[in-house]
Amino acid sequence: MINVTKAYLGDIDKFKTYVEGIYARGWLTNHGPLVGELEQRLKDYLGVKHVILTNNGTLALQVAYRALGLNGSAVTTPFSFVATSSSLQWEGVRPIFADIDAQTWNISPEHIESRIVSDTTAIVGTHVFGNPCAVERIEEIARRRNLKVVYDGAHAFAVRHAGKSVLNWGDISTLSFHATKLFHTVEGGAIITHDDEVARRVHLLCNFGIADVDKIDGIGINAKLNEFSAAMGLCILDDIENILQQRAEIAHRYSASLGDYVDLQKAQDNSQLNHSYYPIALSDESQLLRLRSALNTNGINPRRYFYPSLDTLEYLQPQAAQTTSRALSERVLCLPIYPGLKLEDQERVIATVIAECSRAHTPYQLRNMANAI
Ligand SMILES: *Cc1c(COP(=O)(O)O)cnc(C)c1O
Repeated sequence: MINVTKAYLGDIDKFKTYVEGIYARGWLTNHGPLVGELEQRLKDYLGVKHVILTNNGTLALQVAYRALGLNGSAVTTPFSFVATSSSLQWEGVRPIFADIDAQTWNISPEHIESRIVSDTTAIVGTHVFGNPCAVERIEEIARRRNLKVVYDGAHAFAVRHAGKSVLNWGDISTLSFHATKLFHTVEGGAIITHDDEVARRVHLLCNFGIADVDKIDGIGINAKLNEFSAAMGLCILDDIENILQQRAEIAHRYSASLGDYVDLQKAQDNSQLNHSYYPIALSDESQLLRLRSALNTNGINPRRYFYPSLDTLEYLQPQAAQTTSRALSERVLCLPIYPGLKLEDQERVIATVIAECSRAHTPYQLRNMANAI
């Protein structure tokens, strides 16, 4: 089966060398040297001020909300992985959904303002599939309305906007280093901030609030990354340019072949993407379901990201229906993209999509396509 993604594994001998070092030191976790080395290398690679590694991307979000003192409610996107909202609710911050932009698929600045209520303390956006949010406009709204901004950057590793890492925007951006992500540490994540005081609080929160051997400074949790995970990250970071290059080639091949048959996410202006996913939007849910079973029959396992739209989740009710997000979530399917995806397998995916989507073309569309050729 060709899956939507495949965990990247770097050179095993390099990994073994790191593991031998861990055995020699007997230092397995609690801010070991490999965690320190990975934090430093990520700061340099991403060009950000503080990187605090965590044991997954969901705890990174939870700690971020705590570190910024969020309470009341937060305006957030219904078109994201469930963790963006569930982590808010888990931390006692009520998610209020603002609809997404139909082109970029990110939270729409036009909708954010009207959703802010008296107890709103933050805007929480997701750079969906690595496409940067309208960060400048969100920053302007947040400044004017005195709100914190958190970006769930789980998809945005190595994504650049206006000449720098998109993770530089917001009071905090978070990353997920889950095995399925573009860059991973098996399980892991990170908190990115440019604020020294926020970074200090994040460090405390991630380590039980322990400030010193004899001092506990407030409530904390255990969000530490371990040395074995850091070793995996160090190995993969060595290969990152090759990973990005292979993903870009696969993405460009898809776009060149499928652009006339399906709708694609519109890239944010002035941005350099990472092709962490290859989402397509079908004409409607029934076409999506037909395509998915045709792909399954051909040994291909695409995934519906993100479905359902989070404003439909029972434990987050009551919510106003976010119509653009609901409609899009019924149409989006992510196609396989990962380093090592074989050309013949990608061609099978493309052929299956074209076969399914040309059947659904109207005579008018077919005539236009013929003219274009
Ligand atoms: C993967 C993901 C998360 C959760 O990260 P974990 O490391 O799996 O906890 C959060 N948000 C988004 C958008 C994700 O894709």
